[in-house]
Amino acid sequence: MRYFTLKGLTKGDKLNSNIPKIRVRFAPSPTGIMHLGNVRAALLNFLFARQKVGTFILRIEDTDFQRNLDSAVEQIEKDLSWLNLKYDEGPYFQSKNFSSYQESLEYLIEKKLVYKCFCTPEILARKKEKQVALKQAPRYDKTCLKLDEKTILEKVSQKIPFIWRFEVPEGTLEFRDMAKGSMSFNLANFSDFAITRSDSSFTFIFANCVDDIKMKMSHVFRGEDHLSNTVMQVLIYKAFSAQIPVFWHLPIICNLEGSKLSKRDFGFSLNDLKKAGFLHQAITNYLALIGNSFKEEIMDLESIVKNYDFQNVQSASTVKYDEQKLRWVNQQWIQKLPIEELAKEIKPFIIEKYPQSLDFDASWFINIAELVRTDIFTLKEVPELIDFIFKEPEINKEISESEIIFTAIDKLNIPKLEFEKIANFLENKKLEDILTQEIVDINKKYLYQLIRLLVTGKIRGPQIPLLAKIVPHKEFNYLLK
Ligand code: GLU
Repeated sequence: MRYFTLKGLTKGDKLNSNIPKIRVRFAPSPTGIMHLGNVRAALLNFLFARQKVGTFILRIEDTDFQRNLDSAVEQIEKDLSWLNLKYDEGPYFQSKNFSSYQESLEYLIEKKLVYKCFCTPEILARKKEKQVALKQAPRYDKTCLKLDEKTILEKVSQKIPFIWRFEVPEGTLEFRDMAKGSMSFNLANFSDFAITRSDSSFTFIFANCVDDIKMKMSHVFRGEDHLSNTVMQVLIYKAFSAQIPVFWHLPIICNLEGSKLSKRDFGFSLNDLKKAGFLHQAITNYLALIGNSFKEEIMDLESIVKNYDFQNVQSASTVKYDEQKLRWVNQQWIQKLPIEELAKEIKPFIIEKYPQSLDFDASWFINIAELVRTDIFTLKEVPELIDFIFKEPEINKEISESEIIFTAIDKLNIPKLEFEKIANFLENKKLEDILTQEIVDINKKYLYQLIRLLVTGKIRGPQIPLLAKIVPHKEFNYLLK
């Protein structure tokens, strides 16, 4: 029996042999923007922690210095906060854990589970090429495992760079996946894998696993693309006699054609969705819906936490991202939000197109929210719907009476006589007055249709009382001039 001795554990303690509680983490690499796969991983870990009264941890996997982006960490934190996915611990940074990986590596060296590999990237590439040409699976051929002690010492004294490789044993390896159940892998299909890079930094496979062991993760939920990493990492868990967490390899999010969602697909990045006017409630709601079933589909985070069924998660390897469904969920959320909140959400979209609205008060934005709420799927659609406030619609004072009559007759089916009656009635009246006046002998339907057309330039649209709130002083004196 091997024992893992790291800070916080007394020698002889079997690492996390008795996991006291649920601990899960979101472990992004700060190499780019958050995409839907990241958001879903964060969400499901968060939901699980909340439902099981566990701890949700943020760990930044920044060991690949070449690929790290300075702004990415800040953005990840901002995005999680926007999504309301609050973490209980962290952020921890792998770049600050170097000594812990070194300590763990030394343990593996001592146990002779790893060996020095002097093969250069060029040699490895050549070997791989040959194997591919011979239609063999590209595997490291264990050249350096066969080196004798003397040769190794010589190479080290000549300062030939090397990496540490983990020796994959023969046999089969099993672990449990929450969706797929017990999974079994033939280790003959795996190469001895790298634990360090030639610059002595640690690889993802190693650092990620050492941290999961040290941080006592009870569950690891991440994309299905990590499945083969899991096999290698379970070997590391075993090397340390550490408790193996329950894994859940989340199905890969694909577009409707079935290929992995990529930068070219709309909605790939969280930022795209945000800019396109999707609410964070809708994004988390939609992502929770894929791969699970619920009685009621529209849920806030609290009800998702309550209702998410972690017992019956789908075992499919891929899942389709359906933009139309997301738009529907967004529309449902737009209907559901308290009007003051919706007003706050639409405000930046309006200000972006009409900076003059910056100074308008909160009640103006509330009126607008009421006006557009039933007509939109995304917040981005709002500015166009209220164009009429900032510029005269095409049907305006400049077009001649005959054209208005023509439009009214043609598009709205208002008979000419009826139009004239309405025009007379509208004379010298402001929009707000019309609602308080008794209307006799006038077809109200035609009246309202015409007003809507004159105010917004559109045939369908907001209710007249709502319009009256936005442009109360609008007058129609020009109709019969
Ligand atoms: N840094 C890895 C990634 O972003 C983490 C994978 C994991 O959750 O273990 O893909």
